[in-house]
Amino acid sequence: MMRALVKHPDEIGLRMEEVPVPEPGSDDVLIRVDTTGICGTDLHIYQWDEWAAETVPAPMVVGHEFSGHIEGVGSNVSGFEVGELVSAEGHVVCASCRNCLAGRRHLCHDPKGVGVNIPGAFADYVLIPKGNVWRHVDEVSPEIAALFDPFGNAVHTALKFGVLGEDVLITGAGPIGLMATAVVQHSGARNVIVTDVNPFRLDIARRMGATRAVDVRKESLSDVQDELGMLEGFDVALEFSGSKDAYQDILENTIHGANVALLGIPPEPFEIDWSIVIFNMLNLKGIYGREMFDTWYKMNVLIQSGIDISPVITHRFDAEDYEKAFDAIQSAESAKVLMHWSD
Ligand code: NAD
Ligand code: ZN
Repeated sequence: MMRALVKHPDEIGLRMEEVPVPEPGSDDVLIRVDTTGICGTDLHIYQWDEWAAETVPAPMVVGHEFSGHIEGVGSNVSGFEVGELVSAEGHVVCASCRNCLAGRRHLCHDPKGVGVNIPGAFADYVLIPKGNVWRHVDEVSPEIAALFDPFGNAVHTALKFGVLGEDVLITGAGPIGLMATAVVQHSGARNVIVTDVNPFRLDIARRMGATRAVDVRKESLSDVQDELGMLEGFDVALEFSGSKDAYQDILENTIHGANVALLGIPPEPFEIDWSIVIFNMLNLKGIYGREMFDTWYKMNVLIQSGIDISPVITHRFDAEDYEKAFDAIQSAESAKVLMHWSD
């Protein structure tokens, strides 16, 4: 038996329960969980909102941001050794749609989410199909390894367009926008301007390498552009807030022909002035998940070349204190909250 955080339907919160350790099938890897991270999706599930009720087949073990060590492998698994530090791509693809067959797995027609559609990692052990397991390089610690899912969102977005020598606008200093700030700075941008409405997070953005961290309630981006001697707007904009006001900031402050990558998920549909997109010939790109596994390769390379994403970690809890961890993630003074499962 093992400990696991189980979501039950029609109630707020999670329950820590004793459940059977999952049995690996022939193509599975059994992983002893070390560290897990809480993300916005987990909070939707915790609060059991409309989306969660429609999506999660509760009762089920949840959680998808994790690191751990290999405990055992199925009979059809080779190339992985017991004891290796791993984490996993949380989108389990169908392997049979047009994009999967073409090797574009991140564009799968019907991906299943670990901890969302299938059992997750907030537990002492998690079972992952061998094609989703990612082995870490020596430079990666168990805590940093547990960030690879959201770090991958950040890297996928930040490297979608060239940023060397460019002026880059990052809207939203949540955990993902903060990690993207470090990536863009590391990748040679001239100016990295980060916006948010949360002073605690803007402060972390400065530590992640932002040239300027801007509270958009108090300062306008056009004033910031003047101050930095920028004449025509940001070359690249990366959206990590899902806020319609941030989309407006992007439309009003980017250069003609700007590259714009959009990861933040708006909570509800809203209008935008498409004539600005057309007259300014903006290049918009939606981003979902991580590229399998090129984004993962880039994450390794970034860590090996010295990027430090650890300032994004603001809280650490023992898994037994999961309720405190979920309180922390709902406070304004937090970014990435981790839970430790083994000593
Ligand atoms: P988060 O919700 O913690 O961060 C969003 C930040 O945006 C907050 O700090 C908030 O204060 C800030 N914000 C609010 N209004 C703003 C405004 N007008 N201008 C600038 N910032 C503003 O989220 P996160 O975990 O960092 O994730 C970022 C976004 O990406 C979320 O919308 C999340 O749902 C989405 N997401 C998308 C994918 C994907 O694959 N596309 C994956 C994970 C998360
Ligand atoms: Zn597919």
